[in-house]
Amino acid sequence: MIMSVRFVFSEHVTRYFFHEQHPFNPKRLLLTVDLMQAFHLLTEEQLLPPQPASDDELALVHNRSYIDLIKKCSGNDYTPDDLAACGLDTEDTPPFPHMHDAAALIAGGTVQAVQHVANRDCEHAANLAGGLHHALTGKASGFCVYNDASVGIAWLRKHFPDMRILYIDTDAHHGDGVQWAFYDDPAVCTVSIHETGRYLFPGTGDYSERGDGQGYGFTINVPLDAFTEDDSYIETLEAVLPEVVDKVQPDFVISQHGCDAHRFDPLTHLATSMRIYRHIPRLIHRLAHTYCDGRWVALGGGGYDIWRVVPRAWTLLWAEMNDHDLSCSPVPAAWREKWQKESPVPLPPTLYDPVDQWKPIPRRAEITEKNRRTVERALIGVPKVAQKNRGKG
Ligand SMILES: [Zn+2]
Repeated sequence: MIMSVRFVFSEHVTRYFFHEQHPFNPKRLLLTVDLMQAFHLLTEEQLLPPQPASDDELALVHNRSYIDLIKKCSGNDYTPDDLAACGLDTEDTPPFPHMHDAAALIAGGTVQAVQHVANRDCEHAANLAGGLHHALTGKASGFCVYNDASVGIAWLRKHFPDMRILYIDTDAHHGDGVQWAFYDDPAVCTVSIHETGRYLFPGTGDYSERGDGQGYGFTINVPLDAFTEDDSYIETLEAVLPEVVDKVQPDFVISQHGCDAHRFDPLTHLATSMRIYRHIPRLIHRLAHTYCDGRWVALGGGGYDIWRVVPRAWTLLWAEMNDHDLSCSPVPAAWREKWQKESPVPLPPTLYDPVDQWKPIPRRAEITEKNRRTVERALIGVPKVAQKNRGKG
């Protein structure tokens, strides 16, 4: 049986918008969808318009008092103390009108994606507005209000309590909110591969953070050195993910695809190219089919070069989910012509970057060696879970 792949989206998700000068710009979703359509990769039947998460769904992860405060701060009638109490008193994550509705819609989209895949209504599903991995149970953080990834995982834990869930986070920032939400839960394994927190928000994600209690060993952190390039990044992925999946034996994969590890990204110091954004989904896709009978939900995340990086990276992800090989394709001229007028930078003519024309990064060998030692340390003590009898359906 050929199963479908669903794309959770409606233009309403672009209402998650702080202000014009804020780096988190939902326009990237419109640019991405438009590029997918230019490649004829997205059909009407695949679209799944998101419905907002209910308060009960949000409360699977978030405190009720926090949800109430977010609602209050979404209107006009709040105090500086209210903002401080829910983490909206920073430049990073300021309040905006209808914030609760916008954030609940994104969380609801991730719940729908998870629901559809878990119920086998579709094989894979993507919610690129999601991946808001920094939100904590009672505090907004790092552009994130409700942690849709955590809410989706918690929904699965409630409705499919026998499933083991693997969360893979390749955003350049540590997936802290999801890690802390399931830190002591042995049924949820979180893997985050990110730039070291030494110089970057949120500062956590050291390999020594390994989980707590029954969940000890099921939190895996791989903090990469600043200026890591493609080869070392891909070597890290290949060293970490297959081994973790084999040990943990998950039933369901949820992956977060922040694409801010790219060299063009203005907020981070990793130095990869578009190559990794083909490699990451390809590897996860293979593992999902080998271990999880295909159960895979992909989320968005960070990505602050909205013109040159995000549309290409997420189009490559979506192409992979649909078994579509775009390896030799140029970026359609019609897409570039349409958006070039607005873009402050020249839009790339190809899906991959001319890395050989980029200025070399000094200390490449040293960075590579350092990342290898980090991987060794990160993989110490990942528990080996007994293999289940998997009936192929
Ligand atoms: Zn597949």
